Amino acid sequence: MSYENKEEIKGTHIRLATELAFLALPEGWQELTDAFGRTLYIHAESPRRYIEVPSAMTPMGRSSGGSALTGLRNLGNTCYMNTVLQCLCNTVPLAQYFLDDAFRGHINRTNETGSVELVEAFGELLKLLWGGGTEPVSPASFKNSLGKVNLDFAGFQQQDCQEFYSCLLNGLHVGLNRALPQEDAVEPSLDHLGDAEFAREKWRLHRLRHSSVVVDYFQGQFKSTIRCQACSHQSSQCEPFFELSLPLPACAGRTEIEACLKEFEKSERLTGNESFHCSNCDCKQDAVKTITISKLPQILVIHLKRFYYSQGDVACKLTKKVEFGSNLEITEMGGGGPRSYDLYGVANHYGTPAGGHYTAYGKNAETNQWHEFNDDSVTSIRADEVCSPAAYMLFYSSIAA
Ligand SMILES: [Zn+2]
Repeated sequence: MSYENKEEIKGTHIRLATELAFLALPEGWQELTDAFGRTLYIHAESPRRYIEVPSAMTPMGRSSGGSALTGLRNLGNTCYMNTVLQCLCNTVPLAQYFLDDAFRGHINRTNETGSVELVEAFGELLKLLWGGGTEPVSPASFKNSLGKVNLDFAGFQQQDCQEFYSCLLNGLHVGLNRALPQEDAVEPSLDHLGDAEFAREKWRLHRLRHSSVVVDYFQGQFKSTIRCQACSHQSSQCEPFFELSLPLPACAGRTEIEACLKEFEKSERLTGNESFHCSNCDCKQDAVKTITISKLPQILVIHLKRFYYSQGDVACKLTKKVEFGSNLEITEMGGGGPRSYDLYGVANHYGTPAGGHYTAYGKNAETNQWHEFNDDSVTSIRADEVCSPAAYMLFYSSIAA
């Protein structure tokens, strides 16, 4: 049995743990206890290849203790949830808002979707995670509230952590939306505006209806424009986002996060079946579609589109490594120089679309030390371990100029 990298090791390990209930070690592996009392599995041929026992297999999970260093119990396939919760827990301004009880003044009791209960359960959980306890915390009551908002998350099936993130942020936003209900007025035509003005006005109109701490911190906006190849008529749309879903460029080997951003903003020709109905020509025409980021958020969450369906409708995963560092610079539409972001959280996915495991890496706000959050275990890791082929979602916070 050979292992190419730590990711494969983890994938195998998890299968072992679930299928064999950890009765036997694969050939070549040996169990050891390190100086910190952790159980490690070392490969005989390469002592650098090692794995830790997942917390689910230990009688009692170990958290490091300290603010935002408490583990979360796995309730049965809930690693997707724990992973995103730990990334959000490491989002300092959001955590502060809940720890200070500032959210209590913003709860939107006019809606009946259960999002108020979700907001309160999320706040309770953040307080427990920031309480400094070494005992792992159960997210059961939080999960129960989320299941009421979205039935997809009521059960214990494996889920995509990006879909969970998106659902949670929407739920929190609805529960905290301070915007007064607006009359359904017909939007004035904005066609006469230039690109930057158009996007600014769209954002202003969006904010009239959507005003919450979630929007304040996490929401950005991108603008897509379709230009008719026959008459050059342009049609633009703006869309708010809580996360940027970036495609991975189709090249061999590793790639860089900047290349994924370029791929996202790359012009796309719409032709044949995909051609577009031009309102000026009043018929289908070939067109060119471009997407640009028109507003960057304070907290930028990037989702790497690793999962896709093949032509035979088989779920597949791209496992290539995307290189990223602690700093990211992005320029939004209209120039003004690049904006600098600092990485503080990563959601990792190991394994296949059919069966896998999620863990989070988070940079602790008090110590700047990186930790791995693997359900109920929290262990420190080196900064150079943060970028791996398992990275699936990246959490960045804007550095004030
Ligand atoms: Zn046209």
